[in-house]
Amino acid sequence: MQRMWNSAHLSGGNAAYVEELYELYLHDPNAVPEEWRTYFQKLPADGNTATDVSHSTVRDHFVLLAKNQRRAQPVSAGSVSSEHEKKQVEVLRLIQAYRMRGHQAATLDPLGLWQRKVPADLSINHYGLTDADLDTTFRTGELYIGKEEATLREIHQSLQQTYCRTIGAEFTHIVDSDQRKWFQQRLESVRGRPAFSAEVQSHLLERLTAAEGLEKYLGTKYPGTKRFGLEGGESLIPMLDEIIQRSGSYGTKEIVIGMAHRGRLNVLVNTFGKNPRDLFDEFEGKKVEGLSSGDVKYHQGFSSNVMTAGGEVHLALAFNPSHLEIVSPVVEGSVRARQDRRQDKAGDKVLPISIHGDAAFAGQGVVMETFQMSQTRGYRTGGTVHIVINNQVGFTTSRQDDSRSTEYATDVAKMIQAPIFHVNGDDPEAVLFVTQLAVDYRMQFKRDVVIDLVCYRRRGHNEADEPSGTQPLMYQQIAKQRTTRELYADALIQSSVLDDDRVQAKIDEYRTALDNGQHVVKSLVKEPNKELFVDWRPYLGHTWTARHDTRFELKTLQELSAKLLEIPEGFVVQRQVSKILEDRQKMGAGGLPINWGYAETMAYATLLFEGHPVRITGQDVGRGTFSHRHAALHNQKDAGTYLPLQNLFDKQPSFELYDSYLSEEAVLAFEYGYSTTTPNALVIWEAQFGDFANGAQVVIDQFITSGEHKWGRLCGLTMLLPHGYEGQGPEHSSARLERYLQLCAEHNIQVCMPTTPAQIYHLLRRQVIRPLRKPLVVLTPKSLLRHKLAISTLEDLAEGSFQTVINEIDSIDPKKVERLVLCSGKVYYDLLEKRRAEGREDIAIVRIEQLYPFPEDDLAEVLAQYKNLKHIVWCQEEPMNQGAWYCSQHHMRRVAAAHNKGLFLEYAGRDASASPACGYASMHAEQQEKLLQDAFTV
Ligand code: AMP
Repeated sequence: MQRMWNSAHLSGGNAAYVEELYELYLHDPNAVPEEWRTYFQKLPADGNTATDVSHSTVRDHFVLLAKNQRRAQPVSAGSVSSEHEKKQVEVLRLIQAYRMRGHQAATLDPLGLWQRKVPADLSINHYGLTDADLDTTFRTGELYIGKEEATLREIHQSLQQTYCRTIGAEFTHIVDSDQRKWFQQRLESVRGRPAFSAEVQSHLLERLTAAEGLEKYLGTKYPGTKRFGLEGGESLIPMLDEIIQRSGSYGTKEIVIGMAHRGRLNVLVNTFGKNPRDLFDEFEGKKVEGLSSGDVKYHQGFSSNVMTAGGEVHLALAFNPSHLEIVSPVVEGSVRARQDRRQDKAGDKVLPISIHGDAAFAGQGVVMETFQMSQTRGYRTGGTVHIVINNQVGFTTSRQDDSRSTEYATDVAKMIQAPIFHVNGDDPEAVLFVTQLAVDYRMQFKRDVVIDLVCYRRRGHNEADEPSGTQPLMYQQIAKQRTTRELYADALIQSSVLDDDRVQAKIDEYRTALDNGQHVVKSLVKEPNKELFVDWRPYLGHTWTARHDTRFELKTLQELSAKLLEIPEGFVVQRQVSKILEDRQKMGAGGLPINWGYAETMAYATLLFEGHPVRITGQDVGRGTFSHRHAALHNQKDAGTYLPLQNLFDKQPSFELYDSYLSEEAVLAFEYGYSTTTPNALVIWEAQFGDFANGAQVVIDQFITSGEHKWGRLCGLTMLLPHGYEGQGPEHSSARLERYLQLCAEHNIQVCMPTTPAQIYHLLRRQVIRPLRKPLVVLTPKSLLRHKLAISTLEDLAEGSFQTVINEIDSIDPKKVERLVLCSGKVYYDLLEKRRAEGREDIAIVRIEQLYPFPEDDLAEVLAQYKNLKHIVWCQEEPMNQGAWYCSQHHMRRVAAAHNKGLFLEYAGRDASASPACGYASMHAEQQEKLLQDAFTV
């Protein structure tokens, strides 16, 4: 750096310029020359951070310095700053402005319809520079154009080329200066446009030909059939190709892609190598074997292996419902599961790609939730490559003042400082370049990156749609618009890379392959390496009554129990937690009846012992909302944590436990993705209160309860939902059991309400030990966690099994029983205590612990013992329109009628109610008393 930045500049008259320079430095320390950076860094801070120095402080400091200098050494006329030096500062500001706002002047819209005001600070005049300065030489600062000095003309031109052609780069919002510098260097050194070889260009055209060719073929063969074609966004296909090939050469072994319907068929055939013949069969409406209900073709997933320079890569396209964006966290969960399986902590081996639509990306809250998880311990995957297929319309909504409040559809990504590349989809080479940057950035920095592929949809929302009714001007332009392939082919012909014949040959080759129903992906591996993915065969074809054994040898159970109490030297456990551990020690020794927390912990310990990984996430799961779990201990001395279940024995399977951030939707979707990828593990999501799952209803409806039947994807996810009427008001009393039961059909899920510690223990163990993989919804208790009657013995854990129905436990003579009360959950103990208090021997109380699949045979077996029944009653705490009454009564009626035709199932419970529970404790107690009384009298 030259001497011109020496202290001579520190004259009072230059203060304004230095202040500007300082502003520049605050925004980006690398934007100012080294000397100035060092100088600013040394300034006394008046805030909390080193850069937090007020401008007045800088000016004062600077003036003071100048004064001292004048005193020591009178300033000569020659050392007063020259006009040139002032301009130099302005040139640096100009450079910085282009980095920040150049994208606003870039040509991003292939249709040329965007009308954007070019920011004033991208013109040299804004800085007091004029055409007369264009040939003056300035220092380039840290502008990466390969020289220290250049004319203003060259500097300005290079900035326009780099930042204002067909790529709009947004990266200056990133705080980390290494990352910003990385982008500056990559973009500026090639002026936003590297030279690609003829071979690469020809390959690009081949991929565009494939993308366009498929749509044309389908359009001719199945005119008017909905396919949500990619037309207008064909550059997606070369983009995906590049991501796969480039990440493959980095050593990636698996890639999971999530995408909505637009372009999906194209991706399936041209990226995944799905046999076109299979796709044609789907167009002809053929049913896929083994699926009961199926799904439309543009929601289907797929798997294949392709070859890359770094070896074989397994590709998985996630199945997707119509709810846009919800698949993104599912993909993240699936990727994390694969990374965990490969012990790939950094995320080198498995890459997530999320493909979005612009309208949904800007509109759906789950996008923000998914970004929020991207760097958290429990959910990070080492960075996702996001692609927004920006066709500038959301169904029929295109006005920006209707569709969003942000400048770009992608602005939400800035919340995690993700770099964003807007790129004109009609410039395939620019697309290729930003794709390379995106992959390189993700691999180096392990963070999310966004490519905004600005394109259009040639045929409206789908092929049966007439878009000009709602977007007249846009579609007038689209009618005139030549395709991306045509434009690029022309460009290559013009630059003599290819001739007309070669271009036509590519079209013909592709069409012939489709005519012959051949695979069109050249890199497809015909005999895939199966080791790259999990073998699900052991889990296929089982019914819920499949035989299983959840017993566990008592001595080993006690050894594991003791091991859980070994705390590291010097680790100070909080007083109440210490008491819980002491009690657990007594429980393990048989000196105390066991409680819920103990039994649940032992379920995890024994499953780990048997080789099953365990993953638990959700709100406050470490402690448990009601402090019953304490699976993570906190050192009172230094706040360090210790998880005994991670330290049971050498080389044990993983035990992962994370308090989630405060999301339900993305987190539950993530765990769905995780569990549909890891059949061998117990995967649990726990809601802080059961009703919080409301926020994740899409995941429950679209994936958990229907995924197997639509797509053949098994899922063993367990949801723990605290539920119970404790007089705490409308919120948090009900986990909305009725919603789950209403969704039950074809044995799609299991819904259970265990009432004893041994029951939760065997239920959790059953979930993994039984080869069946079905989602398990457990309504877990609150007060029962400490209820004096809700206890079990060690023998109950060592022996026993999960009981779907629990018969009367008191020794009541069945012959005397005239009234049978059926119930589930906590109300059982209220009924039991009342019956005992009243000394009634004519009433038996039977618990239904599994509400779905409803155990009709087991209930019939219990009923068979009661020959003299006159009444059978269903008792529930929930209002009549809620709980199990409406959805489960037909099962109970069927069993009762088979037992005795004259038995009519009666109801004892709260009246129907709009709200789940009342807010007044006294009203609650009254209602509770009445429903118990009704159970004994109706
Ligand atoms: P993927 O790694 O997701 O591509 O899966 C590879 C193969 O494993 C798929 O083609 C399916 O045959 C099978 N598979 C994956 N996940 C599941 C699942 N949740 N249920 C049943 N089969 C699965």
